[in-house]
Amino acid sequence: MTLLTIGAFARASRLSPKALRLYDELGLLPPARVDPVTGYRLYERGQLERARLVAWLRRIGMPLARIAEVCALPPGAAAEEIRAYWARVEADTAARRDLAAFLVDHLSRKDSDMPTSTTEPLGIRYAALCDRGLVREANQDTAYAGPRLLAVADGFGPSGARASAAAVDALQQFDAERYGGEGGTVPAGELLNALQDAVADAVTGPDPAGTTLTALLRTGPGAQLALVHIGDTSVRLLRDGELFQITHDHTLVQSMVDEGRLTPEEALTHPRRSLLVRALGAAPEGDDATALDLRPHEARPGDRYLLCSDGLSTVVPENDIRRVLTGTPEPEHAVRALVDLANAAGGPDNISCVVADVVPAHD
Ligand code: MN
Repeated sequence: MTLLTIGAFARASRLSPKALRLYDELGLLPPARVDPVTGYRLYERGQLERARLVAWLRRIGMPLARIAEVCALPPGAAAEEIRAYWARVEADTAARRDLAAFLVDHLSRKDSDMPTSTTEPLGIRYAALCDRGLVREANQDTAYAGPRLLAVADGFGPSGARASAAAVDALQQFDAERYGGEGGTVPAGELLNALQDAVADAVTGPDPAGTTLTALLRTGPGAQLALVHIGDTSVRLLRDGELFQITHDHTLVQSMVDEGRLTPEEALTHPRRSLLVRALGAAPEGDDATALDLRPHEARPGDRYLLCSDGLSTVVPENDIRRVLTGTPEPEHAVRALVDLANAAGGPDNISCVVADVVPAHD
């Protein structure tokens, strides 16, 4: 068989010799033979297809290590892997878009010449309830509701209870001390640092511990809220008779659903469904492991919000949650009914619930 020189192979594959040498060094595309005397790389014509695949995968931004994995797979499995990679890129982009929107909002409101979206003052009616459940020995959840802050946190590990309380407390301090004034806004980086410090201080002992946190923080007298979220506690919004979750779970199974590797139905019963990929404190491995989702959320009169821990959402079917929220006007009664449903289903985990209704301020 005739071997192609690196120059000829580069022309045929539309890749530069420099790129080909890099792919060789990385083990992505070793030449068929290296001349022992000159050290020149020689390629077979049959390697063109692999060369083109590597080049295309580089164009879509796939990391080199992952390209190596894809190249080692048969075509069907390689296609599946590329599809999963792209789904992850889109999910990450959506999260970054939310953060960008938050920053735009934050900076726009610092600029007094920019029109603001602040509307008529809104009032809020709320209730919080936190319950140990029927199985766990301790309650590591924290639930809080006040006129400017709604929050739930689900602690884990030996000092999980302290971690969840510290996270909610830090958010409360943040609000009251520094950003209680009219038009106050929440700087993302400062918020994350304050939360991480508070949780780190609360976690003691050698064993890993940490917490999730999901909160709505009012940033002015109007309808503008900041949604702060990490982990698998969640927010549901009942608006115009529709109930939808407005947070994205940071769990292994949700990542698998995002990537099309698991259906939402399969996720409900997956044995590792409670495994977190992000949390405050003893976070899992990875660059984004302690990254909060932070975005603005515009409330409307008539909105009803449910913040809850997985002790409710993984135990009580969505339809039953909807039925309680639509049929129980008083927030106090609604949180009681939801906790009772979780306990009626066995109460396997701690349960925290906050229900809040947005009303015109004069009500
Ligand atoms: Mn839990």
